[in-house]
Amino acid sequence: MFRIADFSSRALLVPASVLAVAVLALPALSQTALAGAPASAAAPAAELKVFDPTLIDKSVDPCENFYRFSCNGWFQRNPLPADQAAYGRFTELAELNRLHLRQILEKAAKPAASRTANEQKIGDEYASCMDVAAIDKLGLQPLQPELKRIEELQSLEGLPALLAHLHTIGVDAFFGLGSNPDFADSSQVISYYDAAGLGLPERDYYTRSDAKSVEQRQQYQAHVQKIFLLAGDSEVQAGKDAATVLAIETRLAKASLTMTDQRDPQNLNHPTDVASLAKVLPHFSLRGYVAELHAPAAGKANNAQPKFFAEFDALLADTPLDQVKVYLRWHLLHAYAGTSLPESFDQESWNFYAHTLNGAEKQQERWKRCTSRVDSELGEALGQVYVERYFPPREKQRTLDMTLAIEQAMERDIDSLDWMSATTKVKAREKLHAVMNKIGYPEKWRDYSTVQIVRGDALGNQMRVHAFDEARDLAKIGKPVDKLEWQMTPPTVNAYYDPQMNNVNFPAGYLQPPFFSGKEDDAANYGDMGSTIGHELTHGFDDEGRQFDKDGNLLNWWTKDDEQKFSDRADCMVKQYDAIEAVPGVHLNGKLTLGENLADLGGLWLAWMAWQEKAQAAHVDMAAKMDGYTPEQRFWIAYAQQWCTQTRPEQLRTQAQSNPHAPDEYRTNTVLQDLPEFAKSFRCKKTAPMVVPKPCRVW
Ligand SMILES: [Zn+2]
Repeated sequence: MFRIADFSSRALLVPASVLAVAVLALPALSQTALAGAPASAAAPAAELKVFDPTLIDKSVDPCENFYRFSCNGWFQRNPLPADQAAYGRFTELAELNRLHLRQILEKAAKPAASRTANEQKIGDEYASCMDVAAIDKLGLQPLQPELKRIEELQSLEGLPALLAHLHTIGVDAFFGLGSNPDFADSSQVISYYDAAGLGLPERDYYTRSDAKSVEQRQQYQAHVQKIFLLAGDSEVQAGKDAATVLAIETRLAKASLTMTDQRDPQNLNHPTDVASLAKVLPHFSLRGYVAELHAPAAGKANNAQPKFFAEFDALLADTPLDQVKVYLRWHLLHAYAGTSLPESFDQESWNFYAHTLNGAEKQQERWKRCTSRVDSELGEALGQVYVERYFPPREKQRTLDMTLAIEQAMERDIDSLDWMSATTKVKAREKLHAVMNKIGYPEKWRDYSTVQIVRGDALGNQMRVHAFDEARDLAKIGKPVDKLEWQMTPPTVNAYYDPQMNNVNFPAGYLQPPFFSGKEDDAANYGDMGSTIGHELTHGFDDEGRQFDKDGNLLNWWTKDDEQKFSDRADCMVKQYDAIEAVPGVHLNGKLTLGENLADLGGLWLAWMAWQEKAQAAHVDMAAKMDGYTPEQRFWIAYAQQWCTQTRPEQLRTQAQSNPHAPDEYRTNTVLQDLPEFAKSFRCKKTAPMVVPKPCRVW
């Protein structure tokens, strides 16, 4: 599925298309994505606040380093827990939410006759995941039928049906087929074929030539070898097979688009139909593949990466069948190595993905991972109970009011732009008016009645949940788009904009302290949650989102001249972020992070405008201090304090190289450097580090 623009870097390298199954598909990454809590998290010591004066370090000049000024107190209070690759305010809240989910799950796990159908499913799935003794005792036995299927593959003719089956049970081999709105007509769902099949986080891991990247590839190969060893292969065979896996994946990676190239939807827009696509795959029967999946054998399709599919076919033509089988076997083991296979697999998977790649020192406790697993597998069954308990209707209304105020601010902002023509402004306003606001949770909950969850069968449950998700997704093809569906579960601490739906989505799990609180004033709430709402809204007008019209069609509504002016202004930010060296030798990628940086800057500016308007109407005394700070100062501090995060160097490197979000320090300081209103609020001198001579500005 085409990407949604999310808010937090915590959804690290987990593509939107697999959000619902991320924990299963990328077991160890999920540990950093849904990072754990410090030992004390069982009972959070202090109340979480949006503006927290006790976190401020007065020994730091706010005009020197505003991030340190706002967050040093938090850093002192929150040493990085051993089971985390990064720990910040997003994880602080995610851990609290996870504790709440645990309480729900532990109650549901008690086998009482009074349980509802959903309680049986979430409770028994949690219990199955927690039962390590049973999982260890079964060993690889539940996976034997699948391993046997791969072993028994006789020729390429059998591959399409086998691959379709593996995709159904969540094995991410070679490519992916999903449903997606048509780029040309966003009201209709079509078949969407995309590149996939890599075990490292993304394609550049296979192509970079610096010493660290070469070392990471060696470590990856050693990891694949260990997994084969655990599956019973000899040392020699496992070593040989691991080399085969790396060779095949490297070939696929080289034919795949970079993450930066994927940011331009035009690079992914290659309309075709299923029958024509079949013709470019002479060595792979697409007809056989879709028949096994019960997916459409005809009709409109998008081939997101033609170069990749050509290489996939060429690879099948010249690769010995035994090597293809080795590759499939690895991806099968990899997909289940998390919480469904014995601890030895789980441990080895953690060791490579969380420890080696991202620096975590200790594996997360089992209950944390099992809670995340149920959230990702049956998120709307678990989430329904969650919102009943933790998201009262008044919170929904408050968020909606703030969203409407920020949308009005964006209208005033568009009106006031000196670089945009009246013609383009009309279209921009139309798009803004068409944005749909989705807050908290789905209006209609997903129906899980056909998913069978069996207590004591962790691996079988994982397979059945995948099959359910796959069937649900493919059934959408050929039908009208359902804009009310959600891509994140309700307890998620994140938010997103969907360019093809033109909607903003704020899950209930995020609309909580320390990001939003009914007990605090507008200065704090607009600086924090207001800037997030503005961020998501601005995604509709960033370098990617601006290419979609009010209905979500990929259709250019800009005049040539305005387009040029937008690009010139955006280039200022590309250069600004390119210049930042996040870890020695690794600079940020200004093009990869452009959309997020535009959204951060535009979002904060819109929140500021909306709040100023509201404060004036309410006659807020701008000179009156609270906790030693004026309302304006508290607005900026609340903004900065959402980003307080401790990050291990390994994780920082991963993020700088591959994440579309800049590291949190720059999401604070660099964004504020581009807003002279900030420097005014703190009376910074022109020569201060937080003041730059030529700020960048688009929205
Ligand atoms: Zn974003």
